[in-house]
Amino acid sequence: MSSQPTPPSTGTNLDPWYNTYADRAAGLSVSEVRALFAVASRPEVVSLAGGMPYVSALPQDLVVDAMNRVMVEQGPIALQYGSGQGVPKLREHILEVMALEGISGSVDDVIVTTGSQQALDLVTKLFINPGDVILAEAPSYVGAIGVFRSYQADVEHVLMDDDGLIPDALRDAIARVRRDGKTIKFLYTIPNFHNPAGVTLSAPRREEILHICRSEGILVLEDNPYGLLYFDGPPPAPLRSTEDEGVIYLGSFSKTLAPGFRIGWAIAPHAIREKLVLAAESAILCPSAFSQLVISEYLETADWKKQINTFRGVYEERKNTMIAALSEHLPDLSWTNPNGGFYVWVTLPDYLDSKQMLPRAVKELVAYTPGTAFYADGGGRNKIRLSFCYPTPEQIRLGIRRLTTVINGEIDL
Ligand code: PMP
Repeated sequence: MSSQPTPPSTGTNLDPWYNTYADRAAGLSVSEVRALFAVASRPEVVSLAGGMPYVSALPQDLVVDAMNRVMVEQGPIALQYGSGQGVPKLREHILEVMALEGISGSVDDVIVTTGSQQALDLVTKLFINPGDVILAEAPSYVGAIGVFRSYQADVEHVLMDDDGLIPDALRDAIARVRRDGKTIKFLYTIPNFHNPAGVTLSAPRREEILHICRSEGILVLEDNPYGLLYFDGPPPAPLRSTEDEGVIYLGSFSKTLAPGFRIGWAIAPHAIREKLVLAAESAILCPSAFSQLVISEYLETADWKKQINTFRGVYEERKNTMIAALSEHLPDLSWTNPNGGFYVWVTLPDYLDSKQMLPRAVKELVAYTPGTAFYADGGGRNKIRLSFCYPTPEQIRLGIRRLTTVINGEIDL
């Protein structure tokens, strides 16, 4: 007899294991951003869709030197398993990076993760039972919504404006969810240069939101991969800088260095931190020792602050180019004008559907991300996210001209 299980006969033609998956697998659907990658990566298409950092601005030779030194001097350690919490030397460097943003802590507070994406997964795994509520900005990061769905959370969006999350909207959302008898587990927020909205939470609102969450007993998950990529001066201090016990903070080297290393980190209240390390060990045993040592070596030998400054200059020029092109070609639309990060959030006329418009855009050889990708509740139909991080200024100008042809074509219909 074969040892292979017989697929259940009730499966679909496409996947005979359809009825075998756990309920949580229903939350794993192809994200609109990911589905776009195949199309948008064709060389003739100007992609304003993905959020790929412009890694070509890195001093490649210094990265190669760091890699070589790690292999020559610490090869057996770099190629070995390591601590589940991360290499202590890198955690010390992470404290230096965080000090730039006004966060202090000890080496023990830092947990190295496989990108901040993994930290999002671990935190959600620790806290969410099916049906629990996560409060998140409207819109919110598509990758976080995907994680939340995969643990069967209910995402309750909270309105934001040009100053970020609106405290009164947060109060209303908390009251509404609790009236419905549901349990709120945490507030997920991206305070700086929001993905996708491009806005930054003002300093007074940071205080007010912390006050609300403290008095309502709601944990805050602060996701800050873009905070150091500011244009006109730094954003207000992170929530974590004034609140240790109620905030889990996530950082990443993906945007300030390179996403290929897959190294991010979490700083969490003490009790949560221990659980996070156990969860991380059960998921991956330990983060890549090789990546961690190469980043440590790079930070020790290269002028990394200068290099972050170079990134700021590159992205600021691209952002200015995008805003100028939008002002010139699409003056009747509205959009956010970020002071850092990667994204501009554009509002189309009410009657336009950005997802339906996408095939026409791709035909015109330009790609963007439709707004619905960033909502768990079907919102964002007339919004689009434009990324200025990867295309050159010339490509951005070309892309916006093509987008203008598409949008004007839809308006004229
Ligand atoms: N959070 C936000 C807001 C992001 O934009 C991203 C990447 N686009 C991530 C988390 C994940 O980043 P990484 O895993 O590369 O650190």
